[in-house]
Amino acid sequence: MAGLPVQIGQQYEAEIIGISHDGEGVGRVNGFTLFVAGALPGERALVRVEHLKKQYGYAGLVELLAVSPDRVVPDCVIYDECGGCQLQHLSYEAQLRVKRQQVVDNLVRIGKLAVAGEPGDNQGQGIIVHPTLGMGDPWRYRNKAQVPFGEERGGLIGGFYAQGSHRIIDMEECLIQHEANDEVVARVKEIGSRLGIRAYSEETGSGLLRHVVVKVGFRTGEVMVVLVTNGSEIPRADEWIAGIREALPAVKSICHNINVRQTNVIFGDETRVLWGSEVIYDYIGEVKFAISARSFFQVNPVQTEVLYGKALEYAALTGGETVVDAYCGIGTISLFLAQRAGQVYGVEIVEEAISDARKNAELNGMTNVHFEAGPAEVVLPEWTRQGVRPDVIVVDPPRKGCDPALLATILELRPQRVVYVSCSASTLARDLRVLVDGGYGVAEVTPVDMFPHTVHVEAVVSIHRVDK
Ligand code: SAH
Repeated sequence: MAGLPVQIGQQYEAEIIGISHDGEGVGRVNGFTLFVAGALPGERALVRVEHLKKQYGYAGLVELLAVSPDRVVPDCVIYDECGGCQLQHLSYEAQLRVKRQQVVDNLVRIGKLAVAGEPGDNQGQGIIVHPTLGMGDPWRYRNKAQVPFGEERGGLIGGFYAQGSHRIIDMEECLIQHEANDEVVARVKEIGSRLGIRAYSEETGSGLLRHVVVKVGFRTGEVMVVLVTNGSEIPRADEWIAGIREALPAVKSICHNINVRQTNVIFGDETRVLWGSEVIYDYIGEVKFAISARSFFQVNPVQTEVLYGKALEYAALTGGETVVDAYCGIGTISLFLAQRAGQVYGVEIVEEAISDARKNAELNGMTNVHFEAGPAEVVLPEWTRQGVRPDVIVVDPPRKGCDPALLATILELRPQRVVYVSCSASTLARDLRVLVDGGYGVAEVTPVDMFPHTVHVEAVVSIHRVDK
């Protein structure tokens, strides 16, 4: 492109000054920004420009000229091909620092909020952003694997899609998955190959086995295996079941989901139990949850407890409060809070999640929770009309953040405290600006690392009403 300080195909020396929300190094060449995959802040690198836009471009890493002290050799042998993790080349300590900094940068740039210790915090009253709460052992933390299956040299393979494509690469272990998940996938490959099962092909739409989904209860040790197939019958199903049970005694449930559509959505609508129970169980803290083939459950149970523990601390419950949990999912936070609250109201847009939430309340014998399906921005005003006056509102919205109507309702209701659990620092910053303008103060933020080695950042925020 004419007029830009760099040209496609040319090599330049770049100073890497930061890390993008996708995990690429943010490089500078003559004041121009180039995103360099694999480069780290503090490094100097020879890069080749691959793609240009008006304001920025993308470049490949040719050679590192100065190496960051935070650089480590990734433990995973397929790290470069897979794309599931983005930060394994950065030490875990540094990952936690980077994640905190991303939260800080978003609060300052998007939220225009003063952060303690950052430029702009003149009166020293800025928001305290704590160090990211990380894991003692940041490996093998995921309780759910969804593995696409294919064929190679007449046998079944299962693994992951090569970055940016739908070509399946066989995988023996994934270091962020619970060991049980690797083991189940290995056995299913072996048994399926022995029984002559064909894998589904996205191109032709033929073949049977599409995905194997494995779930494991960390606390209970229970394992569920779901075979997702293109077609309603599994030939020699009895032999499958016997093979899986024999090899894997921890398996408590074997399910079959049927998905005959040509789509990359994993699950179809129909799920049958092939053997064992319909659900497995796990705990977050003292609260027990039933996990079915289709139900959503937080994928890092260890850090979920840390995250919700923070949310509970910020909710500062004394036992009698009325609490609303907007975006409640299967009621994980609601039930966690109900242990210390007077009455909890949970709302969630997905009907099945609400039905799971009700079952989970029953499972724990909790009677001080009420769940309703619908958009939070509609249901909360309805509850208000019915006389519900929350002392605390907890929000845990999807990446797009809170609906403006929900924020407006919060500002009308004026609860003492709001606890914001966020999986997107940019929409968090945007929403906090609205709450601050509406008469709320942000006391502190704790980032929590729910997904080590990936770029995802979660944060819990303590927000309180400022009475004038
Ligand atoms: N706290 C939950 C998960 C929250 S994820 C847990 O830990 O299990 C965000 C949830 O918000 C999702 O379940 C999504 O279905 C729901 N959601 C999205 N838009 C919504 C809306 N407008 N109103 C209520 N819930 C919504």
